[in-house]
Amino acid sequence: MNTNNNYLKETTYGWDNFSKIIVFIGCIFCLLAAYEAFLGLLMILYAFWRSRSRNIMRRIREERALLKFLNSIYCIVYNIKYHRMSLEILGLKNKKKYKKCPRCGKPILLKNSVKNDVILCPKCSLRFKAK
Ligand SMILES: [Zn+2]
Repeated sequence: MNTNNNYLKETTYGWDNFSKIIVFIGCIFCLLAAYEAFLGLLMILYAFWRSRSRNIMRRIREERALLKFLNSIYCIVYNIKYHRMSLEILGLKNKKKYKKCPRCGKPILLKNSVKNDVILCPKCSLRFKAK
């Protein structure tokens, strides 16, 4: 049994990250509605076909392409996340407060010095208390 498995691993490509990811996504798709479930089934079948494939060089190239692709996505997501987080920190540092005009609803930026003063709406020229 064990030697048989080793023999199979030598001749066929076997399970790599590409196949595992496909099966994982396929399983998620299977939990969804009819069309996605069919797609998920196809993905799982493709992963099984890949693991049985004998064109090992091509499978390795596919996995490398996927890992490169995933890495670039990860980089983009990380950058967006980092950028957003730094913006949040910046926003906390000079927090701007807005007050909506009670008549026209226009948001008016409040300066710290006039926080408790009467402010003038530039749109409808209504004077109202900021607090
Ligand atoms: Zn107004």
